[in-house]
Amino acid sequence: MITKNQEFELRITDMSAEGSGIGHHDGEAVFVPHTAVGDLILCHIVKTKKTYAFGKALDILEPSADRIEPDCDVSSQCGGCCYRHMTYEAELRVKQKRVEDAMQRLARIDTDVLPILGSEKQVSYRNKAQYPVQAGGAKGLQIGFYGLHSHRIVPCMDCLLQPALFYDVLTILRDWILRYKIPIYDEQRHKGLLRHIYLRRGAHTGELMVCLVINGTNVPHAFQLTETLKADLPDFKTLVVNYNTADTNVILGEDCETLYGDGFIRDTMLGISFRVSPLSFYQVNTPQAERLYQIAADFAQLTPEDTLLDLYCGIGTIGLTMADKVRQVYGVEVIPDAVLDAKRNAKENDIENAEFFCGDAAAAAVRLRSKGIQPDVIVVDPPRKGLDPVLIGTIADMAPSRVVYVSCDPGTLARDCARFAEQGYIARKIQPVDLFPRTAHVETVVLMTK
Ligand code: SAH
Repeated sequence: MITKNQEFELRITDMSAEGSGIGHHDGEAVFVPHTAVGDLILCHIVKTKKTYAFGKALDILEPSADRIEPDCDVSSQCGGCCYRHMTYEAELRVKQKRVEDAMQRLARIDTDVLPILGSEKQVSYRNKAQYPVQAGGAKGLQIGFYGLHSHRIVPCMDCLLQPALFYDVLTILRDWILRYKIPIYDEQRHKGLLRHIYLRRGAHTGELMVCLVINGTNVPHAFQLTETLKADLPDFKTLVVNYNTADTNVILGEDCETLYGDGFIRDTMLGISFRVSPLSFYQVNTPQAERLYQIAADFAQLTPEDTLLDLYCGIGTIGLTMADKVRQVYGVEVIPDAVLDAKRNAKENDIENAEFFCGDAAAAAVRLRSKGIQPDVIVVDPPRKGLDPVLIGTIADMAPSRVVYVSCDPGTLARDCARFAEQGYIARKIQPVDLFPRTAHVETVVLMTK
């Protein structure tokens, strides 16, 4: 039995889904962040559970061959990256194995997993960041990221995953906050105004959105902020406030108001122009997401006679980039603002064969089916929790000849593929794509046919 504060030598032999190294001691698994397969460490146990434990590496006695010097000062504290201490090749091997383990061991699917496609950019690849702000520190203000499993801020304004421009934006915001004494939100007491700074930048257009998440009804001195952003940043397009007065750790509230500009930015994907509103989902690594969509289109084997159903469609990126290859596109999305974006995106690109519906994917699929719509291809791109089993049944009843599953979680993907297999849909191609270098996340596209 491993006990808290125990110390021992530990060899790391595997990696967890969260990106921690795993070693075994007395038959129990020990999870140690920021270690790599092959490391021999001096491990200090920080927390124990019934059959496993969490440790930290006090010392690295023998380094793994995959180790490199991390290029970020806060990577061992902030909850964002978990692979900065290993080569990108090693990271890709870990991700490949994760998808293979999920599909083969969990779901007993014996289809080969194609070699993972790495991201060309491993730094500055993101187009979006949400920075919590807190009072404290030397200047009385801290902007950064939450530490792993914590709500303590790790100050960081120059995260390597973000475009360099975000540092300039944060500098302007910090000066404005300090100069005008903008009250900072205090999570414990649920008091104060400014909770988060939310930035988005179109990867192809450069257009910049600044969104302030506030616990209140009004941003003081917004005019001065707008003037500075306009004067200093030529790509600044819109300033938005998001109201979040709830005592919650959900970042965004449900309502936004535009303080300057149109309230959205534009970007392009695969030659189609998209407007992106603050509450709408938009893939964070644009060039790599374009590759992802191309693989999805290739797997879908689209023909001009096809009806395509794009479930969990967001602002319509998947359906609209495929619309010229099919007869008709239907998209379903639960967030109203995203559906509005999708409809306008169709219109502004002169795409006339795409229709979008707001609602829950499972319920909408039933409605579409009762209307007699028979898709030839269904693309699903759900959030991490994956698909409702009822939806898998409805999809099987609609009997499309191809189902393309775009997934951001190998675990739920594997579970759902096993459920599809029970309905006669067999995985034919499995392609992992790395959209999130240096973090634990990995995206996968699967083609299933009957
Ligand atoms: N395909 C899009 C969006 C994928 S993200 C793209 O590539 O950009 C998943 C989307 O599913 C989000 O837009 C989210 O708002 C939406 N969503 C979450 N739960 C849903 C549900 N029950 N029904 C329909 N859409 C849902």
